[in-house]
Amino acid sequence: MELRDYQWEVIVPALEGENIIIWLPTGAGKTRAAAYVCKRHLETRERAKVAMLVNRVHLVDQHYTQEFQALQDRFRVTPISSDSDQKFFFAKEVKLSDVVICTAKILQNALTSQDEDMHVELTDFSLLVIDECHHTHKDGVYNQIMEDYLERKLTGQRKLPQILGLTASPGTGGATSIQGAKQHILQICANLDTAKIMSSQKHRVHLQAQVPQPRKQYDVSHERPQDPLGRKLKETMAHIHQYLDVGSLPQDFGTQSYEQRIVELGKEGAQSFCRKKRTCALHLRKYNDALLINDTVRMIDAFNALDEFYQLEKATKVLQDPTERFLVSTFEEIKAALLALTSDPRYENPKLSKLEEILQEQFRTLDRSRGIIFTKTRQSAHALHKWIQESAKLARLDIKAAVLTGAGYSNQTKHMTPNEQQDVIKLFRKGDLNLLFSTSVAEEGLDIPECNIVVRYGLMTNEIAMVQARGRARAENSLYSVLAKANSKEVSRERLNETLEELTQRVIEEVQAMPEKKYRDTITALQRSAIISRKVKKAEGNQKRQLHDPDAVRLHCINCNVAVCHGSDLRTVEKMHHVNVNPDFKIYYNATSNNVGIPRNFKDWKPGGSISCANCGQAWGMEMIYRSVTLPILSIKNFVVATPDGNKHLKQWSRVTFTIEEFDYVEYCSRNLSM
Ligand SMILES: [Zn+2]
Repeated sequence: MELRDYQWEVIVPALEGENIIIWLPTGAGKTRAAAYVCKRHLETRERAKVAMLVNRVHLVDQHYTQEFQALQDRFRVTPISSDSDQKFFFAKEVKLSDVVICTAKILQNALTSQDEDMHVELTDFSLLVIDECHHTHKDGVYNQIMEDYLERKLTGQRKLPQILGLTASPGTGGATSIQGAKQHILQICANLDTAKIMSSQKHRVHLQAQVPQPRKQYDVSHERPQDPLGRKLKETMAHIHQYLDVGSLPQDFGTQSYEQRIVELGKEGAQSFCRKKRTCALHLRKYNDALLINDTVRMIDAFNALDEFYQLEKATKVLQDPTERFLVSTFEEIKAALLALTSDPRYENPKLSKLEEILQEQFRTLDRSRGIIFTKTRQSAHALHKWIQESAKLARLDIKAAVLTGAGYSNQTKHMTPNEQQDVIKLFRKGDLNLLFSTSVAEEGLDIPECNIVVRYGLMTNEIAMVQARGRARAENSLYSVLAKANSKEVSRERLNETLEELTQRVIEEVQAMPEKKYRDTITALQRSAIISRKVKKAEGNQKRQLHDPDAVRLHCINCNVAVCHGSDLRTVEKMHHVNVNPDFKIYYNATSNNVGIPRNFKDWKPGGSISCANCGQAWGMEMIYRSVTLPILSIKNFVVATPDGNKHLKQWSRVTFTIEEFDYVEYCSRNLSM
């Protein structure tokens, strides 16, 4: 395994057993440097065991087949993917392996699992490598793992694993001042118990020569000269406002701030059991989404999103409620007119013609171009893919495009399974695909040396995402394009990111230059205060969860407001899924006969049909087939929680103010069989 001079330079303290962060630009070969540290660690230390942690599923395979390949002739390296059943036997895999490569989530589950096939201790490892370690922050999974570490460290426990963090861009954590950014970097160092941030000093010039940066270009587009579709949507929204008749609603349709206000309004409606307010807010949000889509991609994509929503409403809801009937008929009235507008090329989105220009330029002149277009949502990634398939001009070029999105389950938009992701990445690596429309999933870590164009399509992100996305353009003479509307927030954010990138650099140098004792004292103080505030938070959380008697809490359907169960009917499975174990609950819901597809396996259960309110058709969640019994899993966002202190609409079960016990299969069976 060969290392470059600057790679040697940054790993020295790690070879001596110190905790460090390796800070090198994207494309400089951090993973290879880390793999080398792992190799030396395994060769020189007794009972050594390494966990290589990643934050994206597809990186497990990438590291296994690339930089960690070199270790496999002498050591047992095991990749553990989230869609394999191996994770259920994590403890055994760890015992048999020298190196495991897995997502942080899998390790975290194993650390907290009670199941002996899965459970491992942090001290089973002698080295943890944390890829993209700038995520070791706040409530992130990396930080949860490191909390366990710090708690052990501060209580004087020894034999803790060595920590090796890797990052190209720790970022400023939202700060725009030197002081704030420094605080952020020190906090990351404290979270990772880092002794030193290592960057290339002696070989910096060499490094810069080895890792070429892409040429950056701002491709600005202009507003649509005329936008009759947008105008029609806005008029309809104003009409719904009139029907709703609540004063002081903002009219800044098609913006994020309008979205926030309307989400709040929906919550107010839900908590006060005001069906009219909640329903209007829900539909206004869909119109607002359509405006945002109209601003990003084609008019037809905006139309389709809205039309699909109404088709689903008609297919699932009972539609007896006057508000629902008003809203459905309002859309029916404008539907044909909207659709007619979408086919008029005069009103098409100028961002798309800009993108077309860029692609024409790149794919005409360079015969072996390979590029990634980053976009915000899964929806827009699919819309852009459709656009390119239907574009006559681009059809003449040799573009073979596909979509790459996250594997996380969301019932709103299509997700990919980890296997599908792997397939797309493999085809792109081989060159059988040469263009990806991707969400942020491909931003970090994806290593394709031939990639020479990165377009950030109307994106507004922080400086870390900018640095990471830019780093995907690896080939010589690469192009990094920022495509956004002229004078938009996206453009000014990108400019700010450039400033923040420089700020990060300066601040890291300051931290590196701190006198050792001062640095250490600062880190220890930050660790202590993090532990204390976590304890306080935990105690508050526990107290909050016992505020109400589960018998005194009722759940109401969010749509029709009917009360359907008590808090005491609920149990948790794997501390995560919330099921109703009361057999009488059956009469309140309908279940579909086809099973919900979730791209993951579970140990004791599989998904059944989706369930909805028997009274109004509102989606509630899905069935869980747990060994021999079927239980409804409820999603808290589809209910209003009525407590003696008022109603709450919550997004997460962790926020409920009563205790929910863990499901006991044996007890459940014996109780229900004896009845
Ligand atoms: Zn209902």
